Amino acid sequence: MQLQFLGTGAGIPAKHRNVSSIALKMLDERNEIWLFDCGEATQHTILHTSIRPRKITKIFITHLHGDHIFGLPGFLSSRAFQGGEEPLTIFGPVGIKEYVQTALRISHSHLKYALHIVELAQEGIAYQDKQIKVVYQTLKHGIQSYGYKVIESDLDGELQADKLKDLGIPSGPIYGQLKKGEQVTLEDGRIINGLDFVGPSRKGRQVVIFGDTRYFAQHAEFCKYANVLVHEATFGRGEEQMAYHYFHSTCTQAAEIAKFAQVSQLYLTHISSRYLAHDAKQLEKDAQKVFSATQIAHDLLEVDIPFHD
Ligand SMILES: [Zn+2]
Repeated sequence: MQLQFLGTGAGIPAKHRNVSSIALKMLDERNEIWLFDCGEATQHTILHTSIRPRKITKIFITHLHGDHIFGLPGFLSSRAFQGGEEPLTIFGPVGIKEYVQTALRISHSHLKYALHIVELAQEGIAYQDKQIKVVYQTLKHGIQSYGYKVIESDLDGELQADKLKDLGIPSGPIYGQLKKGEQVTLEDGRIINGLDFVGPSRKGRQVVIFGDTRYFAQHAEFCKYANVLVHEATFGRGEEQMAYHYFHSTCTQAAEIAKFAQVSQLYLTHISSRYLAHDAKQLEKDAQKVFSATQIAHDLLEVDIPFHD
């Protein structure tokens, strides 16, 4: 499971930071990639990655400001030209359906795949299957804006096949029974308990991706103990009033949330174009004084999401 930042800028594109989009790559886990937001030219950025558009099966939109959705119609149409036949689902606030359908209709774009659009409420479960669940809550941004939490199910322990082989138990269907923790009687009369040969289960990972928002201490509840939190940092330290006025956060406010929530890693994104490379580094330094495991994201940055030890 990896995160790749496709666009890390706020509001308007800058030379080195395009507008918002993040890919959650789960190729090993489920052969899928999910997008969070799809700012203008996201499809151009994707050309600089190994991401294949047809692998993108879900797109979660945090809110309907243009810098988070203007890339959608173009991406959706191109995906159809690039052999995308797998269905795709878009989740987002009320209005996303009208926006997408209108853009596709007026531009005579005909997709060759099934497109589903799910409009969400205030909070709840956006998506769930056996492996994974996505919950969302409303943030504070003047218009409907969501934070999404991707919750991976706990992973079953691995069967310790080496130990079984050492005992002279050949592999076969019996391994499947043992992996389920069943007790099995061998032909030679030995009784083997599967539970003795299955390693510990692993706690699934949690990734929280916030849309644009003002600082609000209670947001920490939503990301409690997450492995990764992605939070906007449109403004720098000392600009709290401005951040409040424009419904955004400062880098240190994002770090406060990470600290309260005791997440493992914080990534700052949605960086104002007022901050060039050097100044952007300062945002990171200031945030690190509050929460040391902070990194400022840049376009194309790819990071692994480790399990908790
Ligand atoms: Zn924005």
